[in-house]
Amino acid sequence: MLPLLQAMDHPCRTDQVRIGIINQNEINAANAGSCEFYVTMGLLRRANDDQLRGVLAHEIAHQDLGHVAKAQVLGAGLNIGAAVLQQLFPAAGVLAPVAGELVARGYGRTEEYAADRHGVDILRRAGYSKETMLDALTWVRSVAGSGGGGFLSTHPGIDDRITTIERLP
Ligand SMILES: [Zn+2]
Repeated sequence: MLPLLQAMDHPCRTDQVRIGIINQNEINAANAGSCEFYVTMGLLRRANDDQLRGVLAHEIAHQDLGHVAKAQVLGAGLNIGAAVLQQLFPAAGVLAPVAGELVARGYGRTEEYAADRHGVDILRRAGYSKETMLDALTWVRSVAGSGGGGFLSTHPGIDDRITTIERLP
């Protein structure tokens, strides 16, 4: 995730970044503004590294574009800093999650498409391709029927999002 943060138009300083790991099986992620992000244990347990990278690129794009954060966590605080993220992908299982429920209200459709598009920009600057975002969204769609509704329910139609990214040059 650190390379993605460094590929932002307005990079978050490493000591600014806070990540909340929420002990919730639902697949979800959110940006709370001020370089604060939330991910659920459901996401960490079930996504592979690339899928997680694509989801986080979308949330980092919301931060970079200055979208008004609408996420909040009930009954939980932010518990780890960005330094932990270097170990996050291979070692998600060793993180201690905090109790709480992630409540991420939806952005507008325009903001969601903008975050997908800018998320692809950020991925490319960090050395990845739009396929990372496409694979992440395709994966989210595939798990949506088994408790993965969070990221979907707070976002516009995922089929339309996938099609829009496919059309990017
Ligand atoms: Zn979003």
